[in-house]
Amino acid sequence: MQPSFVIVGANLAGGRAAQALRREGFSGRVVLVGAEPHPPYERPPLSKDLLLGKQAPEALRIADRQSWSDQEIDLRLGTTVTRLLPGEQSVETDSGELIRADKVLLCTGGRARRLAVEGHHLGGVHALRSLDDALTIREQLVPGAHVTVVGAGFIGAEVAASAQALGCRVTLLEVAGLPLQRVLGPALGQVLATAYRDQGVDLRLGTGVHSLVGDDRVRRVVTTDGSVIETDLVVVGIGIEPAVELAASAGARVDNGILVDEFCATSIDGIYAAGDVANHPNPILGERVRLENWQNAQNQGLAAAGSMLGHRRPFAEVPWFWSDQYAWNLQMAGQAGPEDDVVWRGDVDGLAFSAFFLRAGVLRAAFAVNRPRDVHGARRLIERGGVVDVDALRDPGADLRKLAA
Ligand SMILES: Cc1cc2nc3c(=O)[nH]c(=O)nc-3n(C[C@H](O)[C@H](O)[C@H](O)COP(=O)(O)OP(=O)(O)OC[C@H]3O[C@@H](n4cnc5c(N)ncnc54)[C@H](O)[C@@H]3O)c2cc1C
Repeated sequence: MQPSFVIVGANLAGGRAAQALRREGFSGRVVLVGAEPHPPYERPPLSKDLLLGKQAPEALRIADRQSWSDQEIDLRLGTTVTRLLPGEQSVETDSGELIRADKVLLCTGGRARRLAVEGHHLGGVHALRSLDDALTIREQLVPGAHVTVVGAGFIGAEVAASAQALGCRVTLLEVAGLPLQRVLGPALGQVLATAYRDQGVDLRLGTGVHSLVGDDRVRRVVTTDGSVIETDLVVVGIGIEPAVELAASAGARVDNGILVDEFCATSIDGIYAAGDVANHPNPILGERVRLENWQNAQNQGLAAAGSMLGHRRPFAEVPWFWSDQYAWNLQMAGQAGPEDDVVWRGDVDGLAFSAFFLRAGVLRAAFAVNRPRDVHGARRLIERGGVVDVDALRDPGADLRKLAA
């Protein structure tokens, strides 16, 4: 009998893994099960071009519908896997169907965190994770509307920028003292705070939501400092919870995601995990990371597929992501820490700069606004151990890609 592999979660990591199984010649059964009604799609445009009306939902698909059946991938949409039965080599779906699963790959991603405050169920209060969320929010971003965005992380800032471009007024609430302070440290947080305010965002730092008030829909936000904001719409961008419950109830080890080894294998034989849900030991950084970015989801999905086929290729990549806000392209490679020394290059006030994070003289991460090449170079340098000449980092004319060659 042909082996049957089941992938749970039909989005970027899961979709790419299914395609990779076929590309690598797997001729058994591939079942790709997704709770959403849509075939696998890219999420990054949800807060950018899709909100702005520049991209249609169909353009986000990672492959056209037909190609799944052409590759004999059994794509089950609108279907949730409710139980893993590793002892019986099967999974159970919400319709009660048992699907044979000699191996399982969990690409269940995460769910947007909800605000745990009074009024969070009111109409007009939305998180942005899925295509359906984005389409619902888009309808309400009408010129003159007042939008309150909760959380000044990357997605919150992208929503703020898109809403302003559509003619909305934006209040951005951030409970921390500065935007992205935990990820980037205080100096960069201050640069971003100034940049958002210069764009006309009413940025309120150290301010959370006490409650949401309304009738059929939200009308006011009461903040933790007692202010009242009249609002037409609230978009909550306070991070995700990794969807670990299937793995946990089957007895797999979980801790901030599903714990996997360097081959994306969980603690249960035959069960793998990849993407936003997986907590993976990154050999380049020398620490475990659970990443929430496009590159990781795509490439870890591919790596996990290889492991399911028996290849012993550890997944090893420098983390990298981008964000587009206003006229700025933000990119980051590596993993910064609060104690890292920061070396700057370029024009900070003019928002064309890079910041490099070093620990004991070793390059660990780079963050850039409108200087993507610096990040690409830094990424290679980190891959090669992070040994670097600090003067070259400071010099905006030094091409880091050449230094890394
Ligand atoms: C608005 C937005 C903007 C972003 N912008 C950027 C960006 O600019 N740059 C960047 O690098 N990254 C960005 N990202 C992050 C990137 O999109 C994610 O890292 C990536 O989508 C993760 O892919 P994934 O397949 O691991 O998980 P997901 O995309 O979360 O997919 C998981 C899928 O599994 C399904 N599922 C869960 N449980 C079950 C179950 N039991 N049964 C069946 N199906 C299940 C879910 O419904 C979901 O469809 C953005 C994300 C969002 C939301």
